[in-house]
Amino acid sequence: MVDYDAIVIGAGNAGLTAAATLQRAGARTLLVERHNVPGGCATSFRRGRFEFEVALHQLSGVGEEGQAFSLRGLFHQLGIADRLELVREDDLYRAAVPGRYDVTLPASWDGAADALEEAFPGNRARVERFFRLLKEVVAGYNAVLRGRPARRIKPEVFRQGLRPFKDVLDEHFDDERIRSALGAYWHYLGQPPSRVTFQDLAQILVMYIGFKPWHIRGGSQALSSAILGAFLDAGGEVRFNTTVERVLTEGGRAVGVRTDDGTEATATDIVSNASLPLTYAMLDPADVPAAARRDLGSRRVGVSAFVLHMGLDATPRELGFTAATSFLAADTDDDRTFASMRTLEGARGICATAYDVHPIGFAPSGASHVSLLTLQYADAWDAVRPADYARAKFAYAETVLDLAESVTPGIRDAIEEVDVATPLTLTRYLGHPGGAIYGYDQDATEGPLFRDASRTHVPGLHTAGAWTGVGGFQPTLEAGARLALRLLHARAA
Ligand SMILES: Cc1cc2nc3c(=O)[nH]c(=O)nc-3n(C[C@H](O)[C@H](O)[C@H](O)COP(=O)(O)OP(=O)(O)OC[C@H]3O[C@@H](n4cnc5c(N)ncnc54)[C@H](O)[C@@H]3O)c2cc1C
Repeated sequence: MVDYDAIVIGAGNAGLTAAATLQRAGARTLLVERHNVPGGCATSFRRGRFEFEVALHQLSGVGEEGQAFSLRGLFHQLGIADRLELVREDDLYRAAVPGRYDVTLPASWDGAADALEEAFPGNRARVERFFRLLKEVVAGYNAVLRGRPARRIKPEVFRQGLRPFKDVLDEHFDDERIRSALGAYWHYLGQPPSRVTFQDLAQILVMYIGFKPWHIRGGSQALSSAILGAFLDAGGEVRFNTTVERVLTEGGRAVGVRTDDGTEATATDIVSNASLPLTYAMLDPADVPAAARRDLGSRRVGVSAFVLHMGLDATPRELGFTAATSFLAADTDDDRTFASMRTLEGARGICATAYDVHPIGFAPSGASHVSLLTLQYADAWDAVRPADYARAKFAYAETVLDLAESVTPGIRDAIEEVDVATPLTLTRYLGHPGGAIYGYDQDATEGPLFRDASRTHVPGLHTAGAWTGVGGFQPTLEAGARLALRLLHARAA
């Protein structure tokens, strides 16, 4: 007799949706989380008069009531739709390279085309052709994932979809500024347009333009707490401040866990929301199959981030933030910016999120919460001597602020509270190798067309989260629920 039907290790997005889906379907589930709050990356923290959002910039996959996309459906399925106040953003983003261009794209196909035509006259026909291709490739790709036979999909979908995004941009546009503006979402994948497939960035653009970018009043912590609430309401059991140290096995099958207080619990299914390397490290080394070692060895730990969380004594309008999300770059050379993410030479591209353009309740009236994020691999930070760390951190922060100042002059002077997170901070908090925020490098081979990493090489042990395919909010929230449904179906069969 097992103690639980399922044990879920980690209360990040995927752990939470897996646990809540299982428990609400009647599977007795134990959720174990190292920290004292649910959410993993999906959390926030207090500084002075401000609450600082850790990770959520723009939530995708929601859609309007009446034109809902998958996440809105998931919120209903989990019984939390009424507990969340979703906040819609009007703009996709502002993209700017100081001295070269500055354009704000509304979150609509026509609005974005108009804005691009105004900023880069003479490109309307190309933009419309490009937008048509985005929609066509995404529709084809999604049809394949839903099981439509490849022979019934236009060959163009595969021909264009698997090419680098940059090649397709180059083919459509002569002006490098419009290419730079249209590729700005590469920061959400951590790989520049030359290294991501057309379909991967197309998915993001189609999702945000077609179904709008969203936020949540109370930030990502409100979402994490709501999902935990749904889990507890259904009778689920959670242990916070508890780390799973060992996944127990019998005859090569995962059968339970041992936590850091020495307690053991057994279950039919073990779901890990921890990183893949740490999940395998929880097994007795003798139980890690050679195929798992090969799999781990073939993948590259992804990018982390350097973030300035700021409480500013000024409104977004006073600071010059016209859109909630701004991508600011030193120039249009995305490959050089990507290369700089392994060095401390200084920020060349940042994502500035002004959370009070569409307020989520994190700053008092007359003030605002802004985060400035630049992607960084942990390598360069690992090499900094402890004695030099504080200096390196503040020197790098100055370069981030310099870039921000070029489009929002005066932002430095408005700082009332600031907290700086480096890849080392994120490694410590998340416990992930390299402080990686999206799991492994998000190249084509990590996509669902090529890899289903939720099936581990150990029976009874399953994984869900950023390290199991695609990182980010929508993919991880969906992945946990999807895995839970698969386990429930297997149980029912
Ligand atoms: C600074 C930052 C900015 C980001 N920006 C964006 C963005 O703009 N858009 C976007 O979509 N995504 C963004 N992300 C990424 C996104 O937040 C993550 O990909 C996603 O939240 C990861 O969810 P997850 O399910 O993989 O779990 P995680 O959030 O990684 O959580 C895993 C959980 O498991 C727990 N755990 C691990 N090991 C154990 C153990 N042994 N025992 C018990 N508990 C354990 C951890 O404590 C943690 O709570 C950002 C992330 C960060 C950090």
